[in-house]
Amino acid sequence: MKAVSLVSAGLDSLLAARIIQNEGIKIIPLFFKTPFNPKDKLDKQLEIIYQNLRIKPEVVSIEEDFLEILKKPCYGFGQNMNPCIDCKILMFTKAKALMSNFGAEFVITGEVLGQRPMSQNRQALKTIEKKSGLKGLVLRPLSAKLLPPALPENKGWIKKENLFAFYGRSRKPQLGLAKQLRINNYLTPAGGCLLTDPGFAKRLKELILHQELSLDNIELLKVGRHFRIFKDTKLIVGRNEKENNIILDLVRKDDHLFSPSQGIRGPVALGRGSFNEGLIELSCRIICRYFDLDSKTKGRVVYKRVLDKKEKIKEVTPIDEDTLLTLRI
Ligand code: SF4
Repeated sequence: MKAVSLVSAGLDSLLAARIIQNEGIKIIPLFFKTPFNPKDKLDKQLEIIYQNLRIKPEVVSIEEDFLEILKKPCYGFGQNMNPCIDCKILMFTKAKALMSNFGAEFVITGEVLGQRPMSQNRQALKTIEKKSGLKGLVLRPLSAKLLPPALPENKGWIKKENLFAFYGRSRKPQLGLAKQLRINNYLTPAGGCLLTDPGFAKRLKELILHQELSLDNIELLKVGRHFRIFKDTKLIVGRNEKENNIILDLVRKDDHLFSPSQGIRGPVALGRGSFNEGLIELSCRIICRYFDLDSKTKGRVVYKRVLDKKEKIKEVTPIDEDTLLTLRI
C-alpha cells in the first residue's frame, strides 16, 4: 500500500508522514516548491525531510501556477498575502494528478484542525478536498479522530485508534509526539512561506498593484531595500555583501547597476524599469545615502545600463531622509 505525503520541513507534516510509515504504508513525500520558499533554505528543507523519513522527497514546482492565484485568489488572502485555501487546492490537485504515477491510494497531510483560522477549519478542509477532487482521500493523522473517516480508515488499512485528536494552535501535543517518534530536526513554523511575513507581503502587494508580478521580480523582493522611484521604475539597494552578490546574480540585461566609485565603501543597487537622466540622478543620490563618506558631503557613483559597455560616473549629494522615506516601499 502506498500514499503520497505532502511535506514541508515543518514538524506537523513530518509527524503525519512518520505516523503512517509506522503503520506499514510506503509513503512518497511530495515537496511543493512555490516562489515563496526562502531560496537559501530549500536544500536544508529537503535534507531535513530525508533525514526524518529516509526517503528523498519529490520536488513539485508550482511556481508559475502560484502567480495566477496571487492575482485573484478565489478564497481571498489570510492575514498577510497568503492565499492559503487556493494554495492548498493547487497543491492537492497536483498531488492527485501524481498519485497514479506512484501507485498511491491516498494522500497524507500534517494539517491540524483549528490550527489556522483560515485554512484549517472544518469547512476549509472540506472545500479543499472537494475542489481538488480528493474527497474522502485525504488522511490527516494528527486530527483524524476529530474528522470523518478517510479511505484508508474505511478500508481498514489504518486503525483510527492509532491516529490522533490534536486540535488548535498549541504546539504541545506535537512536541510530545515528536519526542516519542524521535523527530528532533525540523524547521519552526515561521521558517516557511514568505507570504506570511508582513514586510514581504507589503512589497508584494505593491508589485501586484504596479502589474509587475513575475518570478524574476519576486526573487528580487527577497533582498535589499526597495524604492519606487517612478511609476514603472524601482531601485533595490543591497543591505550587506551577501545581498549585493544576490542582486548581481539577479540582474537582467535591461537593468541599470549603480555602485560606489573606487575608494568608497558602500552597497550596489539595481534599477529596474525605464530610466531618464532625472531618475539616474535620483538613484545615485539614494545609493549615495548608504555610502561610507567619512566627513565628505558628496559621493561618486559608478553606473551603467547592464547592456552598455561603458560605465559613467556621477558626483552627488546623498538624498535627505524625508524624501527617502516617501520613496521606500
Ligand atoms: S502559508 Fe503559504 S505555502 Fe502555506 S498554505 Fe499558505 S500560501 Fe500556501
